[in-house]
Amino acid sequence: GFTEAKMAWTECPSPAHQPASGYHLCPDLGIVEVIDPDTGRVLPPGESGEIVFTPLDARGTVVLRYRTGDFIDGGLVHEPCPYCRRLLPRLVGNISRRSEVRSMRLDKIKGTLVDFNELEHALDDAPHLGAWQIELRKLHDDPLDVDELVLHVHAPDQSDQTALSHELANRINAACELQPNRILFHTAAEMRALQGVGSQLKELRLVDHRPAESPTPPAPAPVGSDPTAQSHPEPERAVS
Ligand SMILES: [Zn+2]
Repeated sequence: GFTEAKMAWTECPSPAHQPASGYHLCPDLGIVEVIDPDTGRVLPPGESGEIVFTPLDARGTVVLRYRTGDFIDGGLVHEPCPYCRRLLPRLVGNISRRSEVRSMRLDKIKGTLVDFNELEHALDDAPHLGAWQIELRKLHDDPLDVDELVLHVHAPDQSDQTALSHELANRINAACELQPNRILFHTAAEMRALQGVGSQLKELRLVDHRPAESPTPPAPAPVGSDPTAQSHPEPERAVS
């Protein structure tokens, strides 16, 4: 089962200040995949997601593609281990339970797992920065397009906006390896309105304006129709 397989995963000793090798998998014990927990899609190498396990040594009940509820933040990689040079697939990064992932306020932005506590600390410690808010969007407000990270800020002491933008972008990058797409400066009043001060119990420091992806399963073709005919022409787009 998964527990036995997990116990057989080994890590190589890594020199101080070098990244960990990750867990070397035992392909003869089972197949490990990493999926997007929301869509079930198998993710490309190196992307964080939920570990799915299919045991190959199973006696009795056979489980196919068991969803473990374990989250790996560095994904599955196939390059040789930098320390032992073996070619075993490796799970890289930290493994956590999905429930912990939620309580730790982790979310995926641009395919990267982001810890908002880290981000919060990085911005709260920034000099010359007053109120701030992180807004998550989709490019063109299209649910299938890429994520955008917009940082809204108020700088109370009229400091150099270019220098401050640079400093904040560096801090965000150091905290979560992402670059903000835009940094927008606001007055104190605009910032209070954005944060919902007065209307919300807690100031909104993180808002997610990414539209939900609406599932549109293809409709079954009518009986007797030509299966080679295109049944779903592109809907015409309104020109404005
Ligand atoms: Zn190794």
